[in-house]
Amino acid sequence: MIILVLNCGSSSLKYQVLDMKSNDDYTLMAKGLVERIGEKVGSIAHTVTGQDKFIIEKPVPDHSAGIKEVLDLLVSKEHGVLDSLSRIDAVGHRVAHGGEFFKGSALVTPEAENFIEKCCELAPLHNPANLLGIRAVKQLMPSTPQVAVFDTSFHQTMPDYAFTYSIPYRFYEKYRVRRYGFHGTSHKFVAAKAAKFVGIDLENSKIITCHLGNGSSITAVKNGKSVDTSMGFTPIEGVTMGTRCGSLDAGAILFLQEKEGLDSAGISKVLNKQSGLLGISGVSSDFRDIQAAALEGNPRALLARRTLTYGIKKTIGAYAAVLNGVDMIVFTGGIGENASAVRSEVCNGMEYLGVEFDDRINDEIHGKDAVISKPSSRVKVVVVTTDEELVIAQDTMAIVKK
Ligand code: ADP
Repeated sequence: MIILVLNCGSSSLKYQVLDMKSNDDYTLMAKGLVERIGEKVGSIAHTVTGQDKFIIEKPVPDHSAGIKEVLDLLVSKEHGVLDSLSRIDAVGHRVAHGGEFFKGSALVTPEAENFIEKCCELAPLHNPANLLGIRAVKQLMPSTPQVAVFDTSFHQTMPDYAFTYSIPYRFYEKYRVRRYGFHGTSHKFVAAKAAKFVGIDLENSKIITCHLGNGSSITAVKNGKSVDTSMGFTPIEGVTMGTRCGSLDAGAILFLQEKEGLDSAGISKVLNKQSGLLGISGVSSDFRDIQAAALEGNPRALLARRTLTYGIKKTIGAYAAVLNGVDMIVFTGGIGENASAVRSEVCNGMEYLGVEFDDRINDEIHGKDAVISKPSSRVKVVVVTTDEELVIAQDTMAIVKK
C-alpha cells in the first residue's frame, strides 16, 4: 500500500511517500520539504531514496499549490517515484489538535473535518494549516481516502484528575480548557519500540518517555497508555524548550504583562518565541549551540542546559510517583537521541529510583537505539529514534484497510 504522509505547518509542508508492505516491512520512496509557502519565492527540497536532494525555488502561493508541486514531482519523469497518482492508496495527515473528539486516528469524513475545524481555536497556529492540507488533497485527489493522525489523541486516556486545571470548572465546560498533551504519536511509538527492544511487555509496564527536541514533552505511560504528560492546554507547558518557557507561575505572567505593558500577542511572543533555551542563554534556541557555548564556559548556556535537565529529572521523579515505580525511561527526539550530556545530567543521581546509568555506553552511542543503563540496573534507560511519519503511515494503512 503506497501512502503519502503530509505534515502541513503554517508556511511549510513536509512529506514522505512510503510503500507499506506491513507495519514493519516498508520502504521510504521519497521525502521532502516545501518551505516559505505564501512568500515571494518558496523552495521545494525533494529527495528520492538513494539519490541526491533536488531543490527548486519558485513561488508557492498556498498549501494547495505546494501539494500540487509535490504530486507533480512524485510522478515526474526525472524525479518521480510513481507512474501515476492513482498509485497512492491513501494520504495520512499529521493534525495537531483533536480536542476531546478524537481518541485515536480517524478517517477524514465530512464529520471528522468539521471536528478538526472546531479544534482550530485550540491550536490556531497548526490546525488551520492541517485543514488546508486535507482540503487541498480532497480537491486534487478526490477519490483517495485520507486519515488524520492527531498529536493529542494518545493522551486522551489521561484520568480527569491529571488533565483538569484548578481553575473554575466552568472554563472547562465552556471552553474545554484542560491538559491535552502533544507529541502523542512519538510517545506511543517510542514506548512500544523501546519495550520491544528491551523485551518488556508493554501491556504490563511502567514507562516514562522523554521526547526532547525543539519542543519537548515527557509522558507517563502505564500498560501502553498515557496517564499523564507534561505539555498541557498548549505546547507551552512542561520542561524548558528551544524558545518556549515551559511551566511558569501564572502570577509571573500577570506581573510581566503589567510591568512591560504587554497585550496577549506581546506576552505570547515572549512565552513562545523568546523564552526557553534561547531566553535563558541569550545564545540560541538550538541545543547544539547551547552545548558549544557551555563547553566554552558560557555561564548562561550552562544555566540553560541545567534548567532543562533539572526540569526533566523533576518530571521523571513526579511520574515515577504517579506510576508507583518505573521499569524504563526512554529518550528520543533531536536532543534525546543525540545529546549524551543531557541524558547523563538527567540520569545520574537517580539511584534511589533504581537507575544505574552507564556513562561510557551513553557517550559511545551516536543516534542509534541502545540501552544506556548498566545490565544490573532495575530501571532500564533506553535511547530510541522516533519516526512520526511512520506512525502516520501505519495508522493510515490500518484505518484504510478497515
Ligand atoms: P523538532 O521538535 O522540531 O522535531 P528535533 O526533534 O529535530 O526538533 O530536535 C531539534 C533539537 O535537537 C535542536 O535543539 C538540536 O540542536 C538538537 N540536536 C540535533 N542534533 C543534535 C546533536 N547531534 N547533539 C545535540 N543536540 C542535537
